[in-house]
Amino acid sequence: MTALIDSHCHLADPKLSADVDALLDRALQAGVGTIVSVGAIGTIETDRLTVEIAESHPNVFAVIGVHPHDASAADTARLAALRELARSREVVALGESGLDFHYMHSPAEAQEAALRRHLELAGELGLPIVIHCRDAEAKLVEIIGEVGIPEAGGVIHCFTGDITAARQFVRMGFHISFSGILTFKSADALREAARDVPEDRLMVETDAPFLAPEPYRGKRNEPAFVVKTLERLADLRGVEPAQMAVITASNTRRLFRIPEPPA
Ligand SMILES: [Zn+2]
Ligand SMILES: [Zn+2]
Repeated sequence: MTALIDSHCHLADPKLSADVDALLDRALQAGVGTIVSVGAIGTIETDRLTVEIAESHPNVFAVIGVHPHDASAADTARLAALRELARSREVVALGESGLDFHYMHSPAEAQEAALRRHLELAGELGLPIVIHCRDAEAKLVEIIGEVGIPEAGGVIHCFTGDITAARQFVRMGFHISFSGILTFKSADALREAARDVPEDRLMVETDAPFLAPEPYRGKRNEPAFVVKTLERLADLRGVEPAQMAVITASNTRRLFRIPEPPA
Protein backbone atom coordinates (compact mmCIF):
# COMPACT_ATOMS: atom_id res chain seq x y z
CA MET A 1 0.00 0.00 0.00
CA THR A 2 2.85 2.44 -0.79
CA ALA A 3 0.41 4.66 -2.68
CA LEU A 4 -0.81 6.42 0.44
CA ILE A 5 -0.30 10.18 0.84
CA ASP A 6 -0.40 12.23 4.03
CA SER A 7 -1.85 15.40 2.49
CA HIS A 8 -1.16 17.68 5.47
CA CYS A 9 1.40 17.62 8.28
CA HIS A 10 3.94 20.01 9.76
CA LEU A 11 7.44 18.51 9.42
CA ALA A 12 9.07 21.85 10.33
CA ASP A 13 7.33 21.83 13.71
CA PRO A 14 9.96 21.52 16.48
CA LYS A 15 8.20 18.33 17.66
CA LEU A 16 9.02 16.68 14.31
CA SER A 17 11.84 18.58 12.63
CA ALA A 18 14.73 16.93 14.48
CA ASP A 19 13.39 13.54 13.56
CA VAL A 20 12.37 13.89 9.91
CA ASP A 21 14.38 11.00 8.43
CA ALA A 22 13.15 8.49 11.03
CA LEU A 23 9.56 9.74 10.55
CA LEU A 24 9.81 9.32 6.80
CA ASP A 25 11.23 5.80 7.20
CA ARG A 26 8.36 4.78 9.46
CA ALA A 27 5.88 6.39 7.04
CA LEU A 28 7.31 4.44 4.12
CA GLN A 29 7.12 1.21 6.10
CA ALA A 30 3.46 1.95 6.80
CA GLY A 31 2.84 2.50 3.09
CA VAL A 32 2.84 6.31 3.17
CA GLY A 33 5.05 7.12 0.19
CA THR A 34 4.35 10.84 -0.26
CA ILE A 35 3.98 13.65 2.25
CA VAL A 36 2.71 17.20 1.93
CA SER A 37 4.25 19.37 4.63
CA VAL A 38 2.76 22.72 5.64
CA GLY A 39 4.73 25.65 7.09
CA ALA A 40 2.50 28.59 8.06
CA ILE A 41 2.68 28.27 11.86
CA GLY A 42 4.89 31.00 13.34
CA THR A 43 7.24 33.10 11.23
CA ILE A 44 8.47 32.91 7.63
CA GLU A 45 11.31 30.76 8.98
CA THR A 46 8.84 27.89 9.35
CA ASP A 47 7.94 28.22 5.67
CA ARG A 48 11.62 28.41 4.75
CA LEU A 49 12.46 25.24 6.69
CA THR A 50 9.42 23.51 5.17
CA VAL A 51 10.69 24.23 1.66
CA GLU A 52 14.21 23.11 2.64
CA ILE A 53 12.92 19.78 3.95
CA ALA A 54 10.92 19.29 0.75
CA GLU A 55 13.93 20.13 -1.38
CA SER A 56 16.06 17.51 0.35
CA HIS A 57 13.44 14.70 0.22
CA PRO A 58 12.05 13.70 -3.19
CA ASN A 59 8.75 12.42 -1.75
CA VAL A 60 8.01 15.52 0.37
CA PHE A 61 6.24 18.62 -0.98
CA ALA A 62 5.67 22.03 0.60
CA VAL A 63 2.74 24.33 1.34
CA ILE A 64 3.54 27.85 2.55
CA GLY A 65 1.44 30.65 4.02
CA VAL A 66 0.30 32.26 7.26
CA HIS A 67 -1.83 30.26 9.70
CA PRO A 68 -5.05 32.01 10.85
CA HIS A 69 -3.67 31.91 14.41
CA ASP A 70 -0.92 34.28 13.19
CA ALA A 71 -3.12 36.18 10.74
CA SER A 72 -1.95 39.61 11.92
CA ALA A 73 1.51 38.71 10.55
CA ALA A 74 0.19 38.37 6.98
CA ASP A 75 1.37 41.84 5.99
CA THR A 76 2.78 43.01 2.68
CA ALA A 77 6.35 42.03 3.60
CA ARG A 78 5.35 38.48 4.58
CA LEU A 79 3.31 38.08 1.40
CA ALA A 80 6.28 39.25 -0.66
CA ALA A 81 8.54 36.73 1.09
CA LEU A 82 6.01 33.97 0.38
CA ARG A 83 5.82 34.98 -3.30
CA GLU A 84 9.62 34.63 -3.45
CA LEU A 85 9.66 31.23 -1.67
CA ALA A 86 6.88 29.98 -3.94
CA ARG A 87 9.34 29.98 -6.83
CA SER A 88 10.64 26.65 -5.53
CA ARG A 89 9.22 23.77 -7.56
CA GLU A 90 8.54 21.97 -4.26
CA VAL A 91 5.78 24.43 -3.35
CA VAL A 92 2.47 22.87 -4.40
CA ALA A 93 -0.06 25.13 -2.66
CA LEU A 94 -0.59 28.22 -0.55
CA GLY A 95 -1.82 27.99 3.06
CA GLU A 96 -2.87 27.06 5.48
CA SER A 97 -5.03 30.16 5.62
CA GLY A 98 -8.61 30.50 6.72
CA LEU A 99 -10.72 31.22 9.77
CA ASP A 100 -10.44 29.84 13.30
CA PHE A 101 -13.23 31.28 15.44
CA HIS A 102 -12.76 28.45 17.96
CA TYR A 103 -9.39 29.58 19.33
CA MET A 104 -9.54 33.19 18.06
CA HIS A 105 -5.77 33.64 18.47
CA SER A 106 -6.07 36.51 15.97
CA PRO A 107 -8.99 38.94 15.68
CA ALA A 108 -11.67 37.85 13.18
CA GLU A 109 -11.03 40.89 10.94
CA ALA A 110 -7.30 40.07 10.71
CA GLN A 111 -8.10 36.45 9.82
CA GLU A 112 -10.54 37.54 7.14
CA ALA A 113 -8.08 40.04 5.65
CA ALA A 114 -5.29 37.42 5.62
CA LEU A 115 -7.58 34.89 3.93
CA ARG A 116 -8.48 37.37 1.19
CA ARG A 117 -4.78 38.08 0.59
CA HIS A 118 -3.99 34.37 0.36
CA LEU A 119 -6.82 33.80 -2.12
CA GLU A 120 -5.55 36.67 -4.24
CA LEU A 121 -1.95 35.42 -4.13
CA ALA A 122 -3.03 31.85 -4.95
CA GLY A 123 -4.80 33.20 -8.02
CA GLU A 124 -1.76 35.23 -9.01
CA LEU A 125 0.62 32.25 -8.61
CA GLY A 126 -1.75 29.68 -10.11
CA LEU A 127 -1.60 27.57 -6.94
CA PRO A 128 -4.39 25.80 -5.04
CA ILE A 129 -5.27 26.97 -1.54
CA VAL A 130 -5.22 24.95 1.71
CA ILE A 131 -7.98 26.19 4.02
CA HIS A 132 -8.15 25.84 7.81
CA CYS A 133 -11.68 26.36 9.14
CA ARG A 134 -12.80 25.92 12.73
CA ASP A 135 -16.26 27.02 13.87
CA ALA A 136 -16.38 29.51 11.00
CA GLU A 137 -18.06 27.63 8.14
CA ALA A 138 -20.73 30.28 7.47
CA LYS A 139 -18.22 33.13 7.24
CA LEU A 140 -15.94 31.07 5.01
CA VAL A 141 -18.81 30.23 2.66
CA GLU A 142 -19.66 33.94 2.54
CA ILE A 143 -16.10 35.02 1.64
CA ILE A 144 -15.54 32.29 -0.94
CA GLY A 145 -18.98 33.02 -2.40
CA GLU A 146 -17.84 36.59 -2.87
CA VAL A 147 -14.27 36.19 -4.21
CA GLY A 148 -14.43 32.59 -5.50
CA ILE A 149 -12.13 29.62 -5.11
CA PRO A 150 -8.72 29.94 -6.88
CA GLU A 151 -8.68 28.56 -10.40
CA ALA A 152 -6.27 25.80 -9.26
CA GLY A 153 -8.79 24.70 -6.62
CA GLY A 154 -8.42 24.08 -2.92
CA VAL A 155 -8.94 21.79 0.04
CA ILE A 156 -10.68 22.21 3.37
CA HIS A 157 -8.04 20.55 5.50
CA CYS A 158 -8.89 18.72 8.74
CA PHE A 159 -12.56 19.13 7.96
CA THR A 160 -14.61 19.25 11.17
CA GLY A 161 -17.99 20.46 9.89
CA ASP A 162 -21.20 18.56 9.27
CA ILE A 163 -22.77 17.15 6.12
CA THR A 164 -24.37 20.50 5.21
CA ALA A 165 -21.05 22.33 5.35
CA ALA A 166 -19.32 19.54 3.43
CA ARG A 167 -21.89 19.76 0.64
CA GLN A 168 -21.50 23.55 0.44
CA PHE A 169 -17.72 23.29 0.15
CA VAL A 170 -17.95 20.50 -2.43
CA ARG A 171 -20.36 22.61 -4.50
CA MET A 172 -17.83 25.45 -4.40
CA GLY A 173 -15.22 23.09 -5.85
CA PHE A 174 -13.22 22.18 -2.74
CA HIS A 175 -11.66 18.88 -1.85
CA ILE A 176 -12.33 17.69 1.70
CA SER A 177 -9.51 16.27 3.80
CA PHE A 178 -10.17 14.12 6.87
CA SER A 179 -7.79 13.87 9.83
CA GLY A 180 -7.57 11.59 12.86
CA ILE A 181 -10.67 13.28 14.27
CA LEU A 182 -12.59 10.86 12.01
CA THR A 183 -11.59 8.07 14.44
CA PHE A 184 -12.71 9.89 17.60
CA LYS A 185 -15.67 8.43 19.44
CA SER A 186 -17.70 11.64 19.44
CA ALA A 187 -17.30 12.35 15.72
CA ASP A 188 -20.56 10.84 14.40
CA ALA A 189 -21.58 13.99 12.49
CA LEU A 190 -18.18 14.07 10.84
CA ARG A 191 -18.44 10.41 9.86
CA GLU A 192 -21.85 11.13 8.31
CA ALA A 193 -20.18 13.84 6.19
CA ALA A 194 -17.32 11.47 5.28
CA ARG A 195 -19.82 8.97 3.83
CA ASP A 196 -21.39 11.69 1.71
CA VAL A 197 -18.41 13.49 0.09
CA PRO A 198 -18.02 12.56 -3.61
CA GLU A 199 -15.23 10.04 -4.14
CA ASP A 200 -13.18 12.34 -6.35
CA ARG A 201 -12.90 14.99 -3.57
CA LEU A 202 -11.70 12.81 -0.68
CA MET A 203 -8.29 13.29 0.92
CA VAL A 204 -6.67 12.12 4.18
CA GLU A 205 -4.08 13.73 6.44
CA THR A 206 -2.52 13.55 9.88
CA ASP A 207 -2.02 17.27 10.68
CA ALA A 208 0.96 15.88 12.64
CA PRO A 209 2.27 16.59 15.22
CA PHE A 210 -1.32 17.41 16.28
CA LEU A 211 -4.47 15.28 16.49
CA ALA A 212 -3.20 11.70 16.54
CA PRO A 213 -5.92 9.23 15.52
CA GLU A 214 -7.14 6.42 17.74
CA PRO A 215 -5.46 4.35 19.18
CA TYR A 216 -2.70 6.94 19.48
CA ARG A 217 -4.93 9.80 20.61
CA GLY A 218 -3.05 12.19 22.92
CA LYS A 219 0.39 11.08 21.66
CA ARG A 220 2.60 12.94 19.21
CA ASN A 221 1.15 12.37 15.75
CA GLU A 222 3.30 11.41 12.74
CA PRO A 223 2.69 10.74 9.01
CA ALA A 224 2.67 6.92 9.41
CA PHE A 225 -0.51 7.22 11.50
CA VAL A 226 -2.53 8.45 8.50
CA VAL A 227 -3.17 4.75 7.87
CA LYS A 228 -5.61 4.71 10.82
CA THR A 229 -7.69 7.52 9.33
CA LEU A 230 -7.54 5.91 5.89
CA GLU A 231 -8.79 2.59 7.30
CA ARG A 232 -11.67 4.30 9.07
CA LEU A 233 -12.65 6.20 5.92
CA ALA A 234 -12.49 3.01 3.84
CA ASP A 235 -14.67 1.19 6.38
CA LEU A 236 -17.25 4.02 6.42
CA ARG A 237 -17.48 3.92 2.64
CA GLY A 238 -17.43 0.15 2.30
CA VAL A 239 -14.27 -0.11 0.21
CA GLU A 240 -10.95 -1.86 0.80
CA PRO A 241 -8.23 0.29 2.44
CA ALA A 242 -5.90 -0.34 -0.53
CA GLN A 243 -8.53 1.02 -2.89
CA MET A 244 -9.18 4.04 -0.64
CA ALA A 245 -5.42 4.69 -0.59
CA VAL A 246 -5.43 4.85 -4.39
CA ILE A 247 -8.52 7.11 -4.45
CA THR A 248 -7.21 9.63 -1.90
CA ALA A 249 -3.69 9.61 -3.34
CA SER A 250 -4.86 10.27 -6.88
CA ASN A 251 -7.13 13.12 -5.67
CA THR A 252 -4.21 14.63 -3.75
CA ARG A 253 -1.87 14.34 -6.75
CA ARG A 254 -4.42 15.94 -9.04
CA LEU A 255 -5.07 18.91 -6.73
CA PHE A 256 -1.43 19.58 -5.86
CA ARG A 257 -0.15 18.53 -9.30
CA ILE A 258 2.27 16.03 -7.77
CA PRO A 259 3.53 13.65 -10.46
CA GLU A 260 3.30 9.88 -10.00
CA PRO A 261 6.54 8.50 -8.53
CA PRO A 262 8.69 6.58 -10.99
CA ALA A 263 7.59 2.91 -11.11
ZN1 LIG B 1 -5.16 23.69 10.33
ZN1 LIG C 1 -2.13 22.17 9.85
